[in-house]
Amino acid sequence: MIAILSKECPLADKAAVLRLIEAAGCRVVVRENEEETCVGVIGSPPDDLALRLSAAKGVKAVRTDTAPYPMVSREAHPDTSLIKIRDVVVGGTELAIIAGPCSVESQSQILASARAVAAGGAQMLRGGAFKPRTSPYSFQGLEAEGLELLAQARAQSGLPVVTEIVAPEDVELVCEYADVLQIGARNMQNYRLLSAVGRAEKPVLLKRGMSATVEELLHAAEYILSAGNPRVMLCERGIRTFGTHTRNTLDVGAVAVLKARTHLPVIVDPSHAAGLREFVPQLAMAGIAAGADGIIVEVHPEPEKAMSDGRQSLTPEGFKSMVDRLRPLALALGRRIS
Ligand code: PEP
Ligand code: MN
Repeated sequence: MIAILSKECPLADKAAVLRLIEAAGCRVVVRENEEETCVGVIGSPPDDLALRLSAAKGVKAVRTDTAPYPMVSREAHPDTSLIKIRDVVVGGTELAIIAGPCSVESQSQILASARAVAAGGAQMLRGGAFKPRTSPYSFQGLEAEGLELLAQARAQSGLPVVTEIVAPEDVELVCEYADVLQIGARNMQNYRLLSAVGRAEKPVLLKRGMSATVEELLHAAEYILSAGNPRVMLCERGIRTFGTHTRNTLDVGAVAVLKARTHLPVIVDPSHAAGLREFVPQLAMAGIAAGADGIIVEVHPEPEKAMSDGRQSLTPEGFKSMVDRLRPLALALGRRIS
């Protein structure tokens, strides 16, 4: 629900409107533009609040046809949010390229990966220390040691680090090392985890669940923002469909729809969508063409030896050549890759 106040509305009347909303057990977000003041109601308002707001002094209109995720929606926040991660800004003209291995495997592997992706045009390094694997017998990640190695890779390469978090109790530990907390597809609806990263001080990359709707993804993001963390990026990483020709189906339509519905930056993961390295560049291009603010892509110095997702990992050369092909596309779309 949004209450629209005229620009001339006296301060005392404005304050009375805010008090009315807060007395109903809701929170407010206030946005001003040249003509009016929009007061967004955050929470679960009682049935009579719209009527009482309409009757309040200074209120021009009350809209109840608003999205159920008011903090994430573009309605009260028309400009795309800029998320600053050290020297990198996501959501502006510049496209963000995040690259690195699926898993952190060893010191030499993550340092070589960081060097390779930095040379190939990445602005951030990815690498999983905690891996949510389909089988309990698959490599589960180096955990705390992996975080330590990521910090070394950041120190050597200067690239901020994106790494996955799988449990609320790990937030403090992962925040000591990571620049961005990744929530994986399997945890998109782990609401305790969403609230926990919502209380953290680090930006979050929230991946869409493999069977989640766009609406469910936006609600999941609302959990994080409503818990206090506004620095959220969404990630389309492919969904389950009847097709088996690729690992998942990259939902480019979702990218365009997300860009319309939310002010949060949208990142595309062509690696988990394709599952096969030879199709990763095409899906990266499709994602960017659909309006994505960046990509997150798997790169391994020796993909055939990777402990996870080797088949979809680009070689360092493959990564560089993909980024070189993305540059003219970005320019044609009014974007840039540094
Ligand atoms: C990953 O990024 O390595 C990963 C596990 O991705 P997703 O959660 O999208 O499957
Ligand atoms: Mn992976």
